[in-house]
Amino acid sequence: MDTIGRICTKCKRWKKSKRFHQRSNGVLQTRCKRCLSKEYKDPKKWAQAAWFRIYHRLQNKNGNNPSYEKFELRIGRREFEQWCAVTYAEWVAKNPDDKPSVDRKDPHGHYERGNLQILSMVENGRKRLFNKNLWAPPGKSWCRKCSRFRSAKLFGRHPHSMNGLAYNCKLCVSEINRLEHLKRKNRR
Ligand SMILES: [Zn+2]
Ligand SMILES: [Zn+2]
Repeated sequence: MDTIGRICTKCKRWKKSKRFHQRSNGVLQTRCKRCLSKEYKDPKKWAQAAWFRIYHRLQNKNGNNPSYEKFELRIGRREFEQWCAVTYAEWVAKNPDDKPSVDRKDPHGHYERGNLQILSMVENGRKRLFNKNLWAPPGKSWCRKCSRFRSAKLFGRHPHSMNGLAYNCKLCVSEINRLEHLKRKNRR
């Protein structure tokens, strides 16, 4: 179904649907592209949003971030926002085409002054994925496919991964192989 348009919750104007980004389910975002990009460019606003993202991640209310429960927010909101706005503005000037995100230099360290930096989203994601197994509970390993920690016994070996175990658990690997096999069979 195509939506013709909607009212932007920020500028309160009715705009055509092409003036909005669409979510993956096809629903239009609540704020128009113009309002979003204005907000994105304002370092103060970006810093506020970054604070809330970190705050909520550490609360782990949705249960998606159990690995964050051991980290503490050791910096006050105002101090963080000041640091973040300045660093963000400098970063954006140097990397105009990248998307920034707040990163902890030492992944074992807390959210505190001196351990924070701004990295591109891509770099940060790569770093986070690589570090999943730094936080693994004893005897467990992270499966990328099922996105959770599972018993290390469920994993094959991988000489180049950080704990010597495969990136996906055996159950996922056999599921992947089964689907591949089906695909090949159907092509014939
Ligand atoms: Zn708007
Ligand atoms: Zn798995």
